[in-house]
Amino acid sequence: MKIVLLGPPGSGKGTQAAVLAKDLGYAHISTGEILREEIRKNSPLGLQAQEFVKSGKLVPDGVVISIVKERTKKEDCKNGFILDGFPRTIPQAEALEKEGITIDKAVSLEVTEEECVRRLGDRKSCPQCGAVYNPVTRPPKNEGICDQCSSALIQREDDKAQTIRERFRVYSQKTAPLLDFYKKSKRLFSLDGHLNPEKVLTNLKNLV
Ligand SMILES: [Zn+2]
Repeated sequence: MKIVLLGPPGSGKGTQAAVLAKDLGYAHISTGEILREEIRKNSPLGLQAQEFVKSGKLVPDGVVISIVKERTKKEDCKNGFILDGFPRTIPQAEALEKEGITIDKAVSLEVTEEECVRRLGDRKSCPQCGAVYNPVTRPPKNEGICDQCSSALIQREDDKAQTIRERFRVYSQKTAPLLDFYKKSKRLFSLDGHLNPEKVLTNLKNLV
């Protein structure tokens, strides 16, 4: 099955997508994670994407579509995959179907703006390996230090309150029509993202 998980930054969709994919034997395709990896490597794609990501804006469609297309050709996608962070707009969704990638179910994790700011404002990331920590749900063993590579943790530019609100605004504006797009073709399912993560995962599994 081909699933798209939708939700504003901080909705927990990244974590949920990762666990769900592992449980189902699907690939988890996070366009944000692929882009951040390219930025860390300073690849041509990374340099192109960097300015958009930093300011909380969306990376141009053409760039993301080619990334997703290549990624879905890989062996680990043969049972199915979960797209996380893409598509976000109707043109992206249409481009995906034009490439022969037809989504079976779109699941929307619904969370308010205030909850997103509350959750993400506390988040710390490792600039070296990309690991993400949260003081409540995933604290590092030693405060401020990455468990995996011992680098000093930072607050990512796009996890600062003002940027979170900007990302939420961009998300709502661009993604609301997309929800309608999947709703019209009876592929949209909505879940309450404020519930605890275990409950959200159970509800997700009941859906797919
Ligand atoms: Zn690290």
